[in-house]
Amino acid sequence: MLTSPLIRELVDAKLPPIKGFIETSLLDWTGHICAVLFLPYCNLRCPYCHKHQLVLKPDTLETVSLEAILQRLQPLKDSVDGICITGGEPTIHRGLPALLKTIHEAGFKTKLDTNGTQPETLHYLISEKLVDCVAMDVKGPLNDATYARCAGVFVPVSIIKKSIELLMAANVPSMFRCTATPTLLAESDVYLLAEELKDLRIEGIDSPNAALSLTVQNFNPADPMEPDLKNIKPLTKEALSRMQDEVNRILG
Ligand code: SF4
Repeated sequence: MLTSPLIRELVDAKLPPIKGFIETSLLDWTGHICAVLFLPYCNLRCPYCHKHQLVLKPDTLETVSLEAILQRLQPLKDSVDGICITGGEPTIHRGLPALLKTIHEAGFKTKLDTNGTQPETLHYLISEKLVDCVAMDVKGPLNDATYARCAGVFVPVSIIKKSIELLMAANVPSMFRCTATPTLLAESDVYLLAEELKDLRIEGIDSPNAALSLTVQNFNPADPMEPDLKNIKPLTKEALSRMQDEVNRILG
């Protein structure tokens, strides 16, 4: 699957810059207490993105040294289970494998948040055992038009499907997430995505990732990348919960 020039790039690259650090989080890795590192830039432009400073103007953010982060985390080793690498989009950085390796060598597990647009890099990270958990954002049902609307740029969904299939077949815990932004995704779109994930799982051969999950996240109108979305009301707690129940029912 991998071309050798990509492997060379991944192996040779320098560590990516870190543009944000949270010492402990209970929210970023279900069932774990983790630190969180934020990497800059992203290849998508999701209109609801609330990390657009990190995506579009990371130079305005201070760079945090990995050494300083690891030194700070060493005394917390008994309470911090691992480190979540998020963004932006971490997999667009060729130095991501080096970062994950350094974190493992420091004695911490790694969790990766990704938009799934770099399946070859994802494959490399999994095959080299550099990630202990992966959460993939799936922007909407797997057709090019809807995906482009939710991602803000054209993304061939064949690429997204590759990443989904890779995670379903991989021997590493993984989960999928989708942000329900009322003007971008209808309720029926979320259910269609759940059906598509279910079908992809059924098509997968001997998938060890039997516990397929899709978490429906609510849209946050505070400072989205597309300013017009500030006026859109997020889903009510009841509507979100109903949607999640139906998604869980579909996925069994
Ligand atoms: S929400 Fe979209 S644009 Fe923002 S970081 Fe995630 S994938 Fe990139």
